[in-house]
Amino acid sequence: MFELFITENQSMLRMTTFLSLLGLLFILEQIIPRLQFPGLWFYKRQLINLSLLLIDIVLIRLLMPLALFDLANQIHQQGYGLINLVTLPFWLNIIISIVVFDLLIYLQHIAFHKYKYLWRIHQAHHTDTQFNVTTGVRFHPFEIVLSFIYKMLAVVLVGPAAISILLYEILLNAAALFTHSNIAIGKAADNFLRRIIVTPDMHRVHHSNIKNETDSNYGNILSIWDKLFHTYLAQPEAGHEHMRIGLDEFQEEEKLNVNLLLKLPIYSNKQ
Ligand SMILES: [Zn+2]
Repeated sequence: MFELFITENQSMLRMTTFLSLLGLLFILEQIIPRLQFPGLWFYKRQLINLSLLLIDIVLIRLLMPLALFDLANQIHQQGYGLINLVTLPFWLNIIISIVVFDLLIYLQHIAFHKYKYLWRIHQAHHTDTQFNVTTGVRFHPFEIVLSFIYKMLAVVLVGPAAISILLYEILLNAAALFTHSNIAIGKAADNFLRRIIVTPDMHRVHHSNIKNETDSNYGNILSIWDKLFHTYLAQPEAGHEHMRIGLDEFQEEEKLNVNLLLKLPIYSNKQ
């Protein structure tokens, strides 16, 4: 009964939690902001970020009628995938699948930085010159499509239970919103949380305009991968209040409209 409810409503469940958290973090940013971003641009760029979100949602609905959830259901029931080689308690199977997927998406993020053509697609995300929850939805549609294909291959390789994929997608979306949010959680909470998960202060370093800072903190949900693979950088050199966010070659705010962001994969020869 419960399983049937989840199967029939998984897409609605994902969308509802995503939009609720987006709204909640947006409200919290107004009440307890971590940093002050003055100017009208703070709001204008959020409209640009939300426009990209809208395009991404429409595109993914049109192109990908088959949800990852359904694919995982098929693969898991047939017994395919590495995780099905061993018999594990169901709860452990779910946890391991989520951790493995988080590692795979960490590696995907590094690939988006290291390979020229992938970087051209990913840089739309990094051209945001300020940093708040809507930065977490600022992705070029190509990145959404490529990431979806990558996750489909990962589902076939790993063979997670469908519920693991649903939980993972919810957690990944929540992490994307939380780690970009401009909420003050306090130093103590930040220090405690970043032992296990990525915090906004940790991820903001990745949005610095300084190359070695951008080339750090690739993690999405768990902070352990950056520490394990030595891509962890605790704080930005200039401090959070003074660090510059964005890319040096894209600092002219009036040019950074949706049109330019969509053209970035073919427009830029600078990297
Ligand atoms: Zn990045």
